[in-house]
Amino acid sequence: MQGLIQDRQLLISSLIEFAALYHGDTEIVTRTVEGPIHRYTYRDLHDRSKQLANALTRLGVKHGDRIGTLAWNTYRHFELYYGVSGMGAVLHTVNPRLFPEQIDYIVNHAEDQYLFFDLTFVPLVEKLAPQLKTVKGFVLMTDAAHMPKDSKIPNLLCYEDLIGKESKEFTWPEFDERTASSLCYTSGTTGNPKGVLYSHRSTVLHSYAVCQRDGLNLGSADTALVIVPLFHANAWGVPYGACMSGAKLVFPGPALDGKSVYELLRDENCNFSLGVPTVWLAFFQYIDQNAASLDLKKDIKLERCVIGGSAAPRAMIERFAKQFDCFVIHAWGMTEMSPLGTTGNLLKKHAGLPLEKRLDVQAKQGRTVYGVEIKITDDEGKELPRDGKAFGNVKVRGPWITSGYFKGEGGKILDDEGWFTTGDVATLDPDGYMQITDRAKDVIKSGGEWISSIDLENAAVGHPAVQEAAVIGVPHAKWQERPLLLVIKKAGQETTKEELLAFLEGKVAKWWLPDDIVFVDELPHTATGKLLKTKLREQYKDYKLPTPGA
Ligand code: AMP
Repeated sequence: MQGLIQDRQLLISSLIEFAALYHGDTEIVTRTVEGPIHRYTYRDLHDRSKQLANALTRLGVKHGDRIGTLAWNTYRHFELYYGVSGMGAVLHTVNPRLFPEQIDYIVNHAEDQYLFFDLTFVPLVEKLAPQLKTVKGFVLMTDAAHMPKDSKIPNLLCYEDLIGKESKEFTWPEFDERTASSLCYTSGTTGNPKGVLYSHRSTVLHSYAVCQRDGLNLGSADTALVIVPLFHANAWGVPYGACMSGAKLVFPGPALDGKSVYELLRDENCNFSLGVPTVWLAFFQYIDQNAASLDLKKDIKLERCVIGGSAAPRAMIERFAKQFDCFVIHAWGMTEMSPLGTTGNLLKKHAGLPLEKRLDVQAKQGRTVYGVEIKITDDEGKELPRDGKAFGNVKVRGPWITSGYFKGEGGKILDDEGWFTTGDVATLDPDGYMQITDRAKDVIKSGGEWISSIDLENAAVGHPAVQEAAVIGVPHAKWQERPLLLVIKKAGQETTKEELLAFLEGKVAKWWLPDDIVFVDELPHTATGKLLKTKLREQYKDYKLPTPGA
C-alpha cells in the first residue's frame, strides 16, 4: 500500500522561492571584485536569478546544458546557483586555482556552453578561450563601466547588460527531482579531475543537514561569512542551506587575506563563518601582528565556526574557544559527498566538560549527519569495530553521495552493496565520532605499523613557533618508511629541531616521533588548500634520514 502524500519534487528553485517569500528583506552582503561593498536582499537575489534564467533561455541554453563559472564568492555567482539550476541547466563551478591545463581539460570534458567569469580571470580566459571548443560565449560578471576595452576574448558579454534587459517574471519549470543540477570536479592530486554530478533531490536533501542543529546548524538568526569558496564542493552546501534557513550571508569576494576577513567579520557583525584551516592561519597571523591596535572582544562576535576540508588542528580550535568564545564545528566531507559527511557537535553528556576534555572531542571529525551511513573496514573489506581504536578504510553511502563520476570516468566506483570508498583512514568511537587518521595514501608505514601524518602535524602546530607543519613518509632501509616533519616557523619566532622533538614527546607514541625535522619557507598546497603531499614525497624521495639503519 502506498502512502497518500503529495509527490512534490524537491527542486532547487523551491529554496529561492521560499527565501524570497519568507526572508525577502534579509541581506546578502558582498565585497565585490571591483572593490566596494554591495548589499541587497533575498528578494533581489530571486528577481535577478529569474532575469538570468530569461537571459539564458534567450541565449538558447537548454535543459541539461552545462554552464561554467570561474568566480569568487559574490552575489553574482550566487545568482548563477539559482538562475542556472533553477531553469534546468547544470551549474559547473570551476576552481580557478587549478592549473590552466586542468581548467582547459575540465571545461572541455564538461562541454560547457557558456563560461561566466570574474574580472580577476580576464587574463586566464584570454589565454584559454581558443582551446575551449564547446563554449559559445564568455560572460564577464561585471557592469559596462568595468568591461575591458580591448579584450581578445571572443563572444564576450557583459553580465549586467545581459540580465539588465530581461524581465523579472519567470516561472521556474517543474521537472523530475533526479535531474542533474550542478557539477563539481574533484581536485585530483593524481590523474585527471573527475566530475561529481549532483541532482536537485540530492542538493535539497543535503540542505537539511546544513540547517540541522546537529549538522552545520545554520539558521535565520545567523550572519554567516562564507569563506569556503562557491567553487569548492558547493561551498559546503551553504548557498542552498542559506535559502532554506534565511541566514544573512556575507561574501568576501577575492579578498581572503587576514585583514579583509577580520574587517568583514567586524563590520557585518558575523556570528558564524566557514573556511578551511589555511584561511584561519592567515587570520590569526594578522591578529598576532596587529594585536596592539585591535579590540578583539569588541570586534569579533563569532559564536560558531565550521572548519573542514583538512583536519582542524586542536590548537586552532582552542584558540577560537579562548580568544572569541567561539565553538568550532569540525566537519569532514568530500566533493563526492555534496560534501557533508560528519560534523563535530557535542552530545548532552559533554555538557560542562572542562575545555581540555571538550577539545579532545572537537578535534575529532565529528558524528555522521542523518542521511550518511558510514563504516570502517580492513583491506579485505571486513567491517572493523567502532571502538575508537581500530582504524580502517572509511566507506559511505547515502542519497547525496556520488554513484559514479561524470561520463563514467573511473568506471564502477561502488561495491555490490552500494558503498563508496572515500580513500580516508579513520577510527569510529562508540559515540559515533570519527577521527581521520590519514588519507590512505599518506599513512606512514613503519615496520608494518601505521603512523598518522595528520596526528603528528596537529601535535607540531601546537608549538607556539610553528606556523604550518607537514609530515611525510621517507623511504627507510630498516623500517620501510619513517616520518619526516617539515615546518614553517612563524615570523619572528625561533625554535630548533631538538626543542620541537622534546615538545612532541609525550604527545604522540615514542616510535611515531619524526626521524628528522626540516625548516622550510613554504609548503605546496592543492587548489583547495590541502597540503600537496605527492609533491613533497617527490621532493624528498632521496632524503637521507639521520637515524640508524636509514
Ligand atoms: P575535497 O573533495 O577536495 O573536499 O577533499 C575531500 C578530502 O579532504 C577528504 O577525503 C579528506 O581526506 C579531506 N578532509 C576533508 N575534511 C577533513 C577534515 N575535517 N579532516 C581531515 N581531512 C579532511
